[in-house]
Amino acid sequence: MKTITHIKLATAREERLQQIDTLFPDAAGPDLGAEWQGGRAAALALLAAADAQAYARTRNHLSGAVTHLSPYIRHGCLSLQEVISDILTRFGAASAKLVSELAYHAYFRQVWHRYGEAILHEMEVPKVPLGQRPLPAYVTQGITGLVCMDEVVRDLVRDGYVHNHARMWFAAYLVHWLKVDWREAADWFEALLLDGNLASNHLSWQWVASSFSHKPYFFNRESMQQFGGERYCQQCKVRCPFDADYATLEHTLFTPDAVPTPIMLEASSKASTLTAPPARRMSSAGSQAMIWVHDEILSPTHPLQTDGRPSVFVFDPQLYGHWPRKRLQFMADCLVEMPNVETWAGNTAEVFSHLGASSIVTQETPQPLLKQAVAGWPVEWQTEPALTARVLESHDLMRFSRYWKKAGPDIMQQTENG
Ligand SMILES: Cc1cc2nc3c(=O)[nH]c(=O)nc-3n(C[C@H](O)[C@H](O)[C@H](O)COP(=O)(O)OP(=O)(O)OC[C@H]3O[C@@H](n4cnc5c(N)ncnc54)[C@H](O)[C@@H]3O)c2cc1C
Repeated sequence: MKTITHIKLATAREERLQQIDTLFPDAAGPDLGAEWQGGRAAALALLAAADAQAYARTRNHLSGAVTHLSPYIRHGCLSLQEVISDILTRFGAASAKLVSELAYHAYFRQVWHRYGEAILHEMEVPKVPLGQRPLPAYVTQGITGLVCMDEVVRDLVRDGYVHNHARMWFAAYLVHWLKVDWREAADWFEALLLDGNLASNHLSWQWVASSFSHKPYFFNRESMQQFGGERYCQQCKVRCPFDADYATLEHTLFTPDAVPTPIMLEASSKASTLTAPPARRMSSAGSQAMIWVHDEILSPTHPLQTDGRPSVFVFDPQLYGHWPRKRLQFMADCLVEMPNVETWAGNTAEVFSHLGASSIVTQETPQPLLKQAVAGWPVEWQTEPALTARVLESHDLMRFSRYWKKAGPDIMQQTENG
């Protein structure tokens, strides 16, 4: 059986989505559908529609003017730099709220670069008792009976997108009300998102849980209704566990008798433990360095795309076999806009061997799976363009507020600095 295959992605979308079904017959969930289209063209259209003033007024509301840019930023269709420059140019001082939210993405990523896989574990001692219950099937099937929570699961599975406020409510419900192990919940949640990334996701779950914040995040029914949740309450038939004042909820949720014994990791022990095997000897006679386009740099304008060397993307089941169908299709939409990229399916290392690559050039990433996919190869990891590298070399990254205080002025002046 052939283990690697060259793929010519169809320009006709229906056909292209179908190609993904053939490649990943076991991929779960519905098709990408018309509401999401991967790729830079769709991303630029959303960016042009972004309204920083309306965003600042309404972003916390479920029907607020949020941008829906996260899947595009996650896959590199747009760089954070260009998004921020565009917003600053169009909205000036009124950009502050949106730019600071965009900076959250950069912030979490910096934390990931610094601490590596330690972000998957508790970053600090939780400030309240956390539970370790397994994630119940009635949650993942969206049959809790709580309309607000079941709707989150429906959005997640159907669209791969959930509003930020609803993500916070859902995470709080699982972690504080149901006492589910946040790691299991975070893994499950991230795997279903179109914008899923370990840093933004797992550190947000930790922020809710209180292992990456000063206090736990929780909410009540009144607050949820204020931000657009009343439509859920109108349909809900079960007793509402969120219907109380904050003092009562705090008392109910955080009784001290179940405090786990948390381990405070030292910064040094948090550094990634990932070690690459020794560079392997190339068996092929090839002598060409090749560009590896991985899932974080899916843009025809990425600097590596103007490099002139052969460029390869691999639908590698080890990397993407667990992703939902719509996310694989989202990537196919992105790739069809990248004429210099050859698309393959199979094992990444085998593809490069087959093509006679002598070495691999790509953009650096904190993503351990990506690193493992080319372990043993000579890889030139090109530095990821960072919003704030200069400011943050030695800066305390344990709170966004401290990061923003230090980095914010630089970021807000980005347009002037080019
Ligand atoms: C439990 C939980 C899990 C999350 N998981 C992810 C994830 O896997 N991937 C992800 O990109 N975001 C994640 N977020 C952050 C945030 O919810 C999404 O970035 C945002 O909802 C995406 O929608 P948008 O593009 O319309 O955002 P907008 O509000 O329009 O924001 C614009 C951009 O700013 C960035 N941004 C905004 N808020 C945040 C934030 N709190 N953290 C990080 N970046 C932010 C995103 O890149 C976003 O596209 C999570 C939040 C929570 C509470």
